[in-house]
Amino acid sequence: MNLPSRARFTIRARLTLLYSAVMALSFVAFFWVSDVGFRRSIEATVNNASRINLETIERLLASTAFRGDDKIRKELRELSELWANGALFEVANAKGQWLFRSPQFEQVSTPLIPPQAQAVAFVTHNLDFSQYRIALQRATIAGQLFEIHAAVPTEPFDQALDHFRLIEKEILPSLLLLASVLGYWLSGRSLAPVNRIIETAELIGAQNLSRRLEVPKARDELRRLTETLNAMLLRIETSFKGIAQFTADASHDLRTPIAVIRTTAEVTLRRPRADYEYRAALLQILETSVDTSNLLENLLTLARADAGAAGMEMHSLDLITHVQKAHSRAASLAAEKNIEISAQIPKISIHIEADAIAIDRLLLILIDNAVKYTLPGGRIEITLRESTSHAEIAIGDSGIGIADSDLANIFDRFYRADRVRGKNNGGAGLGLAIARWIAEVHGGAISAESCVGQGSTFRVRLPILDIQPVPEDRGGLPLRFSEKNSASL
Ligand code: ADP
Repeated sequence: MNLPSRARFTIRARLTLLYSAVMALSFVAFFWVSDVGFRRSIEATVNNASRINLETIERLLASTAFRGDDKIRKELRELSELWANGALFEVANAKGQWLFRSPQFEQVSTPLIPPQAQAVAFVTHNLDFSQYRIALQRATIAGQLFEIHAAVPTEPFDQALDHFRLIEKEILPSLLLLASVLGYWLSGRSLAPVNRIIETAELIGAQNLSRRLEVPKARDELRRLTETLNAMLLRIETSFKGIAQFTADASHDLRTPIAVIRTTAEVTLRRPRADYEYRAALLQILETSVDTSNLLENLLTLARADAGAAGMEMHSLDLITHVQKAHSRAASLAAEKNIEISAQIPKISIHIEADAIAIDRLLLILIDNAVKYTLPGGRIEITLRESTSHAEIAIGDSGIGIADSDLANIFDRFYRADRVRGKNNGGAGLGLAIARWIAEVHGGAISAESCVGQGSTFRVRLPILDIQPVPEDRGGLPLRFSEKNSASL
């Protein structure tokens, strides 16, 4: 498999690398800070030790200064013998004559110069091949000027520092190794739920779409991911079931009229018949094929809608014109069933962004249903109202009504209410599904309210672009039509 270069390392490897790099940087920074701190603390300790020696010599000079140089020499020699810790010193009087010098000081080629003021200065110097920290001071003690140099060996301290650095060097690789192992383990642990998701997801196919991923207990991103994937699976399962149901219903609904056409033709052709019998058979075949082609067209519309390829052509159009057209159509249909039609349409132009053919189709579906499900002598009323943002078309009838249990489903594909199921009135239960889809594609909505035996009202809400005053030819009052037994307007 050709993986893109970014995916060459697994997330686990990348997390481990990142973790190890961060740990390595932290360790190095920690050791560096400790090293600097340790060095500073050693320096302070060494300075302190040489300063203490300096002060001891000062105290000795203070008690012997007035007793003459020889006495001072003797005391200083005794002091040097007492200092077994390797401390060295030298003291000169105001004339620059050495009162005492530890032999190691003899090797110092350039003289060690203390500061002019009486402050103590510190230098590091090699005496007798070892390093010493030397405190230098020029001090006036009991009225006499002395120059004092007190040195302590730095070797023990240097050894401690070396020791510390050695430990650092030895411990760092082990710590890094430990951090990498820990990083690898930790990333493996945190990615384990992802692997479980992958394993389960790999098992989910068309045959077991109802299976869900196990939701982790921790309220973290992985839980959200699992819940999102489960929600997605539910949507896929629902639409998969919808498609399967749609295919099954469509095949069933197509099989019936085709069987009718075939049986009619077969029965008619079984023996010679009179002309009127052939006519009747052909009429039956014609009617059934018209129903079938309507059904096929509806199926095609819904299939295109599902594929998102309905090819709508949106333009600004005047809704009033289309509602009036629907009213004319309703009038001609209603005339055949002796149904009274009335319309209330305001005398303004309501512009909407819409596909003209789709809007006509939507209105026709509702008008057709109103006529189909209203008994002769009934009433149908078409009303158009507008607000600042929406237009609402209501098509009310005094027909058979829809039971509450059916009302929630009538917009589903192939759904027909119990009361009309089995009655062959050319309906397959697709009209309202198409109507709802058209309303939604236009950013609107459709709803229905009904009372069994009293009638139903279907309302379509569509967003409007603008409203304009009445064109002259439409008169000054809201349009009100009432038709009975008349196909013409
Ligand atoms: P059909 O082709 O069966 O009319 P529709 O999708 O247009 O399919 O309508 C679905 C169902 O809703 C119908 O079968 C019918 O039971 C019910 N229905 C729709 N409009 C009306 C109405 N105006 N009055 C009573 N029932 C209706």
